[in-house]
Amino acid sequence: MNSHLLLFCLSIISRVSSNTETCNKFETCTENETKNKYDREVNEWAQKLKQNINSALEQYVPCKTANCSCHKSIIDLDLLPFQDGITKELFDTAVSKGTKYQIINGKLYREIDCHFPARCAGVEHYLTALAPKMPNLEIAINTRDWPQVNKLWGHPKAPVFSFSKTKDYYDIMYPAWSFWEGGPAISLYPTGIGRWDKHRISISIAAEKWPWEAKQDKGFFRGSRTSEERDTLVLLSRSEPHLVDAQYTKNQAWKSDMDTLYAEPAPEVPFEEHCKFKYLFDYRGVAASFRFKHLFLCKSLVFHVGDQWLEFFYPSLKPWVHYIPISVKATEDDIKQLLIFFKENDQLASEIANRGFQHIWDHLTDKDVKCYWRRLLKKYSTLVKYDVVKDHKMKLIS
Ligand code: UDP
Repeated sequence: MNSHLLLFCLSIISRVSSNTETCNKFETCTENETKNKYDREVNEWAQKLKQNINSALEQYVPCKTANCSCHKSIIDLDLLPFQDGITKELFDTAVSKGTKYQIINGKLYREIDCHFPARCAGVEHYLTALAPKMPNLEIAINTRDWPQVNKLWGHPKAPVFSFSKTKDYYDIMYPAWSFWEGGPAISLYPTGIGRWDKHRISISIAAEKWPWEAKQDKGFFRGSRTSEERDTLVLLSRSEPHLVDAQYTKNQAWKSDMDTLYAEPAPEVPFEEHCKFKYLFDYRGVAASFRFKHLFLCKSLVFHVGDQWLEFFYPSLKPWVHYIPISVKATEDDIKQLLIFFKENDQLASEIANRGFQHIWDHLTDKDVKCYWRRLLKKYSTLVKYDVVKDHKMKLIS
């Protein structure tokens, strides 16, 4: 069960519209006949959607909670290209694309310069805690938004750690710095989004304040135009404001109204206030957007657009079981149909929302993040084929 299903369903919708036109032009259907035909096909589409949700549920096997096992397969998958061993040559290629860290005799060291100090600090929070229990090792951590080693562009294979990637990259995913600090700085979070442990609490409290029945029956999105894929929803919100409230905010790159799709930038809205709405939208930005995990905490239904950009925990979330997948090609009409479907199937929507919440609540704790780092580094270190020697140009991170 995946986004192919959605494309299938959406193609039915467009067939319905084109059949309707054909009927009008050539078959001289009466208005009633056309409407009946349309209703019948939409009904079939809705039945098919329900059947497919059911079959996703039948196939779904919930994760065990122990030892971040829910995410373990991603470590195996990301390290698969390096199963023949990580040589010094491979590491030297990687280190030209990231910040060099070493763990030597239980202490963490970093090269003097860090491109984004807050992001390095977010990473170091976890690494300093783990260092005393780790074997000697060295890694190259990319703190840029985008991954570095693209298979399709012919980049030579190298073990670069990045927070997000698509399947076209060799990069090894690590838990983003923003789990602790160094996430995007907006006016509401002037020092940058971080402290996932605290957000878990504050957003889930907000979810209690706005239980499903008290939420507005509307789609919601607030964010900047880091990807034009977001335009479709913003435009739908402008034409159907009773159905969706999706508006662009300013980010640091904002120069003119063009960057907010020719509208005034909207005021920013804290995560907790997203919980007022039943349907929350997630879009990629430059890479994966940090918002995805936060949205689930509202116990609202998450619509996740596009399935290319990943963070380490995304594959543990299953389409139709925990969230609604939407193709990046979905039109305004496609999104509208889906929203109408879930408005008419309120119980189904709230069940998926609750499962999404529970999954993130149970399997994306701060302990899971630490555990993922630990398992990742341990497995990585078993693949290293050279002696890691202390680099005296590095500084000790206390
Ligand atoms: N954000 C928010 N409220 C807003 C606008 C943004 O909480 O009104 C959060 C958003 O969820 C994301 C971060 O700020 O985690 C940056 O959002 P933006 O859309 O600017 O960029 P993205 O990282 O999603 O590409």
